[in-house]
Amino acid sequence: MKTFRTTLIAMIMTCTLFTLGSCQKSATQAEAQNEPQPWVIDRFDDIKVLRYEVPGFENLPIEQKLLVYYLAEAAKCGRDILFDQNFKYNLTVRRALEDIYTKYEDDRSAAEFVALEKYLKKIWFANGIHHHYSNDKFQPEFTRAWFEPLVGKYAKENLSIDEKLLCDIIFDNTLYPSRLNQADGVDMVTESACNYYEGVTMKEVEEFYAKMADLNDPKPISYGLNSKLMKDESGKIYEKVWKLGGMYSEAIEQIIFWLEKASSVAEGAQKSIIDALINYYRTGDLREFDRYNILWVGDNKSNVDFVNGFIEDYGDPLGRKASWEGNVNFVDSTACRRTNIITENAQWFEDNAPINPAFRKKEVKGVTAKVITVAMLGGDCFPATPIGINLPNADWIRKEYGSKSVTIDNITYAYDKAAQGNGFTEEFVLREEDRARMKEYGKLADDLHTDLHECLGHGSGQLAPGVKGGELKSYTSTLEETRADLFGLYYLGDEKMIEIGLIPSLDVAKAQYADYIMNGMMTQFARVELGKNVEESHMRNRKLIAEWCYEKGKKDNVIEWVKQDGKSYIVVNDFDALRRLFGELLFEVQRIKSTGDYEAGRKLVEDYAVKIDPTLHKEVLERYNKLGIEPYSGFVNPDYELVEKDGKVVDVKFVGKYNFIEQMLEYSQKYSFLPSLN
Ligand code: ZN
Repeated sequence: MKTFRTTLIAMIMTCTLFTLGSCQKSATQAEAQNEPQPWVIDRFDDIKVLRYEVPGFENLPIEQKLLVYYLAEAAKCGRDILFDQNFKYNLTVRRALEDIYTKYEDDRSAAEFVALEKYLKKIWFANGIHHHYSNDKFQPEFTRAWFEPLVGKYAKENLSIDEKLLCDIIFDNTLYPSRLNQADGVDMVTESACNYYEGVTMKEVEEFYAKMADLNDPKPISYGLNSKLMKDESGKIYEKVWKLGGMYSEAIEQIIFWLEKASSVAEGAQKSIIDALINYYRTGDLREFDRYNILWVGDNKSNVDFVNGFIEDYGDPLGRKASWEGNVNFVDSTACRRTNIITENAQWFEDNAPINPAFRKKEVKGVTAKVITVAMLGGDCFPATPIGINLPNADWIRKEYGSKSVTIDNITYAYDKAAQGNGFTEEFVLREEDRARMKEYGKLADDLHTDLHECLGHGSGQLAPGVKGGELKSYTSTLEETRADLFGLYYLGDEKMIEIGLIPSLDVAKAQYADYIMNGMMTQFARVELGKNVEESHMRNRKLIAEWCYEKGKKDNVIEWVKQDGKSYIVVNDFDALRRLFGELLFEVQRIKSTGDYEAGRKLVEDYAVKIDPTLHKEVLERYNKLGIEPYSGFVNPDYELVEKDGKVVDVKFVGKYNFIEQMLEYSQKYSFLPSLN
């Protein structure tokens, strides 16, 4: 499970953790010596692309630097897999556009070409022709009449489909309009353009997997996780498995190549973890994936760590198939103080959670949480990236072996740097006292909320006997994120947090509460196109929580809409009452999960999380657009080079290469192993 950045607020960082050295220099001094790199390196449409630093890499021992290097290569090799998973024709479209973009001989400053560049950037960023967040197909701002001849001139050679179909895919709005359609009552499988299913209906998929599931297995296999479900010529439904020799074999072969190199420099436990993963990629055996996860979750010693594989199921309307992702990181030991305190107190948090005691974990096992520095992002973590990750996802492994939870501080640091002074708080936060608290405690509050969400929230609670998980179907992700967020919100405002030294005062919680409610009920709609519903599960969960608390607290005026100078503001009047409401909702959401109460879960989501008031939506978009802030951010990766001496690798050098277009073209050349159609 992942956490994405929850707020869009600009916060002034009090520089503590990683940059003491550079921050102590005065700005003018730094500028005079060395022109500082801007944090925002590209802007287009609703996107800004940032860079991130990797503090501490230079100080790693050479073996760990090499391990990072090999794992980083492996993290880049699956990029094409994700493109293909997102939509069957993504690689075809991307390659045709790249051909035209690189070979184009006419005026590159002409409006149509500039529009093509923008469209291609959006595709690179979203890993496909559908928006990474709203899932809607992009609308090109150049004409078919201009584009069509260019295909024949520059892109025909590598084209795997006919030119007409290519143009239909790009220009026909009725074709493949959404990557992920989870609207109530539709056939989510046939109505979603993602490439996890082909030629099958939702009903057929559900029946297929219902037959496979062994309800008495205490260690249930995550059936369907690593395959596409389709029909053969005779109409028989079968799984096309993503493994060496199966679907995506060419890319998987490269991933294995680099993982083997990584294994050769890894030590002890970590070596067997990497080897288990390699074996899983070779066989496609999901039992082997479980074995890998159990080994991985048990390793708390290795300084360098990684994620590589088919992990998260957010991209599948039925929440079963996992998208490919990669991430390489190492521990930020200074910042780990925070998460160490949280995990040391994990049992206390569980025992005092505002949920039915029957659904509390009797013994919290193996909660490990770290603050990490990422060194490489790949697949579904790139260019848009989470700020927190909690794995593995299989419930039974989490219950028996625990889970590993990380928050990524060099990413949140970059976000904050890039957002400083953008005018957001002034525009949307009404009260000066709220603004002051957000300014002083915003970063700490966000970090802690992420820590609590990831370290404890997802891992907390247990299912009632006989409940397997999966009963909540398409509402699973939203309700699970709701549960984890509520856990974090509830405890952030607990006196215990002061007692154990995590926060100086409850003002930290107030900063988070005011921000969270405003985001959930208003500012996050800046990310949704006018007229559309909220679809993404993290956004749905925030809206659900905020709207539910607003309604339940209405009679006591806990949360209030205020109109001033024609603008709408949402303010929290009673923080204590709000915290009690978080507790009440957590009680109910835990009950829903623990008992698998699909109907109650469906109702919560449909009533509170989906529909946006159109008048408010329009206002938010207008005010947001005036500020000129792009609502979505992502990153370019740094690069690493091997330093050789007398034929031996003696060091690995960090290289900051910060150009989005160059990086995308380089990746499409160097790390593109799949055919256009798979
Ligand atoms: Zn989460």
